[in-house]
Amino acid sequence: MRKPLIAGNWKLHKTLAEAQELARTLKDKLQDEQRCELVIAPPFTALAAVAEICRDSPLQLAGQNCYPATEGAFTGELSPTLLQDAGCHYVILGHSERRQLLGETDTFINAKVQAALAAGLKVILCVGENLAQREDGELFDVIATQMRLGLAEITSAQMAEVVIAYEPVWAIGTGRTASADQAAEVHAFIRGLLQGQFSSEVSESTRILYGGSVKPDNISSLMAEPDIDGALVGGASLDSASFVAIAHYP
Ligand code: PGA
Repeated sequence: MRKPLIAGNWKLHKTLAEAQELARTLKDKLQDEQRCELVIAPPFTALAAVAEICRDSPLQLAGQNCYPATEGAFTGELSPTLLQDAGCHYVILGHSERRQLLGETDTFINAKVQAALAAGLKVILCVGENLAQREDGELFDVIATQMRLGLAEITSAQMAEVVIAYEPVWAIGTGRTASADQAAEVHAFIRGLLQGQFSSEVSESTRILYGGSVKPDNISSLMAEPDIDGALVGGASLDSASFVAIAHYP
């Protein structure tokens, strides 16, 4: 009952021309995809142009971040409303790169989640532990805190518009994927948290993606796990053949 979701996070890659070319190829190759929901997150400068290309295709757009305000004196920031205006259905929030490099806190991320949902954008909320936290046995505490604070004040009804992405920081861009077993353990834990924080219905209906060095050759073993509902793909989403192979996992 949970439709798999495969999302490509292009991060800080692709000029306008490169983004348009990649979007055209993906549209061509994934035009008939029905099994999975497909989302791509180009850099902000390419959103509107890629939205034009993806019109009438199964590809939906995500912003890679937003600011929790509708408008105002916030130099350099973008609101959920402007993302929608550029053609986005989703926004990725709480990515570990923003937590680490830009010092984003769970409270700030929660403000963004609330603002995005209030504006009608769907949210992909990223959570995940770093290597030291895993080795120190803090894995479950870290995930529980990120979930509790990141989803504070969110209602069960709003959770229909939220997707969780479990991304162990040590697996992002490192080529080191969590094993399907390691991922499945945390996904099951997150599902338990959703039940406690919301309800059994929310726990059963919320999609939980895995992210961290997802490639065509490991997607199938991940997707075979019952609690893994899709993938948030970084590096491998920059190449059309890889992203298409992931979306068409056997
Ligand atoms: P990666 O990135 O696939 O390059 O590891 C995943 C992510 O950061 O979402």
